[in-house]
Amino acid sequence: MSMAPAGMGLGLAPYASHPAHSRGRRFPEPEAPTRSAFQRDRDRIIHSTAFRRLVYKTQVFLNHEGDLFRTRLTHSLEVAQLGRSIARSLQLNEDLVEAIALAHDLGHTPFGHAGQDALNDCMKSLAPDSAGDNDSTETWGFEHNLQSLRVVDALEERYPAFDGLNLCFETREGILKHCSRSNAERLNAREPGGVAVRFLQGGSPSLEAQLCNLADEIAYNAHDIDDGVRSGLLSLEQLAEVPLFERYRRRALNAHPQLAGRRLLFESIRLMLSDQVYDVIDATRARLAEAGVRSADEVRQRPPLVTFSESMRADSRHLKAFLFRNLYRHPQVVETTGRARRVVSELFAGYMAQPGELPEAYARQPQRARAVADYIAGMTDRFAIREHQRLSGSVLFP
Ligand code: MG
Repeated sequence: MSMAPAGMGLGLAPYASHPAHSRGRRFPEPEAPTRSAFQRDRDRIIHSTAFRRLVYKTQVFLNHEGDLFRTRLTHSLEVAQLGRSIARSLQLNEDLVEAIALAHDLGHTPFGHAGQDALNDCMKSLAPDSAGDNDSTETWGFEHNLQSLRVVDALEERYPAFDGLNLCFETREGILKHCSRSNAERLNAREPGGVAVRFLQGGSPSLEAQLCNLADEIAYNAHDIDDGVRSGLLSLEQLAEVPLFERYRRRALNAHPQLAGRRLLFESIRLMLSDQVYDVIDATRARLAEAGVRSADEVRQRPPLVTFSESMRADSRHLKAFLFRNLYRHPQVVETTGRARRVVSELFAGYMAQPGELPEAYARQPQRARAVADYIAGMTDRFAIREHQRLSGSVLFP
C-alpha cells in the first residue's frame, strides 16, 4: 500500500504545507481533537495580548490622527484576507497563511518604523555587555521581525508549562521574514537547524510564508494609497504618474464615466488589487510547474517561487517608490515620526536610568536593556505617549 500524497483530503497541492507533516512544536503537545496544528496556531495568535495591541499601533498614520486609517490590526487582517484568497487558488494551506499573516507584525513597536529605528539605535548604542544579551561581540539591536518571533516564543505568558505560544515550526518560520546575518547566527546557535538557518545557508521558507510576504506588499501598497488620499497628503492627480494606479483609474472611468472622488479611488484600488492577485496566481502557477517541486521540503531548497510577473513586479516597485517619496517622506509625516522617535528614545533612556519606573516583571529581568526594549516594543502608541509624558513631563503629542 502506498502512502497518500501530502495534502490529499484537504484539497492541498503536494507542495503545500500539511499539518500532519509539521516539524512540530518546541514543547510537544497532544493534537487538538477538532483543529489542525495550524488552525490552533491561528487561534493562539488571535487570543494573544500582543494581537489585541495591534489595534492601537501605527501603520503609517498615528492612531490618534484619525479613526479610519489602517492600524497594524486592520493591516494584518487585510494581509490575511489577500493571502488566503491566493492560497485557496493555489491549493496552499490557508490556515498556515492566516496564522503567519495575523502574527507577522506582532513585534512592531509603537509609531511604526520610526519607533523601530529609534529602538534599534538605542540598543546599538550600548556597549555589548551592557546591552545584556549575553553576547560578547555585539548586541542584537532591535529588528521587528525578530521581535515578532520573540513575542510568540518567549514574551506571551498564557500557558502553565512554557513561555510564549509554542507555535509550530512552519508558523515561526513564516514570522521570521527577514533576519540579519549576525542575528541569524545567534538564533541558529540557540536552535540549530531551526527557523534562522535559511538566512545562513540559503533556501526559502514554505510557499505559505512566501505568499504572506507578497500579500503584505500588495496590502500596504493599496491601503497606503487609500490612507494617503484620505489624509490629504496624496491627490488623485499626483497618482496619475503611477502606471499601476493610472491603468485601473482609466479602466474604472471607462466602465463608469461619471465616477469621481472617493468612489473612483476605491474602484481603482479594487481593480488594482484583483489584478495583482490574479497576476500572482498565474505567475506562481507557471513557476511551480517549471520548477516541478513535489513537496514542501523541496520548496525550501529552491529560490522563492511565489512571485509577481516581471511587469507587475516592476509596477509594484514603482508604486512603492512613489509612496516612499510622496507619502512616507512627506514633510508632515516626517515631522510626526521625528517626535515619535524622540518619545521612544527618551523612554528608553528614562527606564535605563530609573529601572524603578518599569513594571515589576520587567524590572527584575537580568538583561536590563532587553527588558526595556521588550517593554517599549509592546506599548501601544497612546500608552507610549502617556508614559513619556509621565516620565519626562514634556508633551510631544498634545
Ligand atoms: Mg506588514
